[in-house]
Amino acid sequence: MLTILFWILFIALIIWLLSYWYIFLYIAIGYALYRLTRYVRKELYFKSDTFLEHKRNIDNAVKEYNELADYVNSFDEISLQSDSSERFKHAHLATYENTSSYNIDREKNIKNLTDKNVHQASLQVVKRASEEPLKYLCKYFNVKPTEENLAHVQEMGETVSRFTNAKENLDNRLLKIQKDFNPPEFITKYYLDELLQKLEINVPGMVFRSPDYIFEYVSSGGNSAQRTTITLDEPTLEGLSEYLSEQIKYKKSAKAQRSLMTKKLREFIKERDEYTCQICGVSTAEQSLLLLEVDHILPVSKGGLSTEDNLQTLCWKCNRSKSNKVVE
Ligand SMILES: [Zn+2]
Repeated sequence: MLTILFWILFIALIIWLLSYWYIFLYIAIGYALYRLTRYVRKELYFKSDTFLEHKRNIDNAVKEYNELADYVNSFDEISLQSDSSERFKHAHLATYENTSSYNIDREKNIKNLTDKNVHQASLQVVKRASEEPLKYLCKYFNVKPTEENLAHVQEMGETVSRFTNAKENLDNRLLKIQKDFNPPEFITKYYLDELLQKLEINVPGMVFRSPDYIFEYVSSGGNSAQRTTITLDEPTLEGLSEYLSEQIKYKKSAKAQRSLMTKKLREFIKERDEYTCQICGVSTAEQSLLLLEVDHILPVSKGGLSTEDNLQTLCWKCNRSKSNKVVE
């Protein structure tokens, strides 16, 4: 009885609303007019002299940005080359079998391979993995404390740090261009992509995804689940390097401890060199947005160590030409 009453009321409400159909029509027309005006304003703006003049003024900044974006775009080739090296075949750490989650991927190519890194475990292991992540990561994902694995982890750390550093620089440059250009608010709000296109700024469509390692417990009924996720990001890689290094030292006490590359060391080298490129002499004092990188004077591939005397600060352009020469 109640349901019938409900339906009668419901239908009555619809009929009542329909008798005011013209109100909906007005709203629709109003919205269409608003969109049309916005579109015309945008078209006029992009054709205006103000826009074209502003565009000429930021020409150099855009050129620099695009050049740097090209450089960052080439990073994935660098990391792919090191991944294909045969000597890490048995490392089982992160990248070798999961290259696509580790590489700097174009957005459209992102593959989710994280489920390969899931370890089904007891509740106790899941809990303890969150307390001692490095120990459990090594134990359950078979990361043996070897010189090779340590070198590989260090190399991954370098790639991640280099990418993060360059990406941050690109983002800051883009912000600066946007600030200097200062377009009307509705343009940045609704037509940002078109603006970037008109300004010929090639924002690299890439993301860097660190692989996740997951310990998961699912109860027998499947009702409760608990997870510990370890993401191989910059701090974790650094911790893992230290952990492996300690394990190696413990096992073969005779071997001299390898000097580890850390964020702190990188910062120290930049500060020591007064944020100045050791080849061409440009510094962040002159160019606040200068991208500086820390370079191994004798490359790691040729036995160079991450020691203070083998490290120097280079601007990205000098670093690029140096690595090109090494490849030749
Ligand atoms: Zn330089």
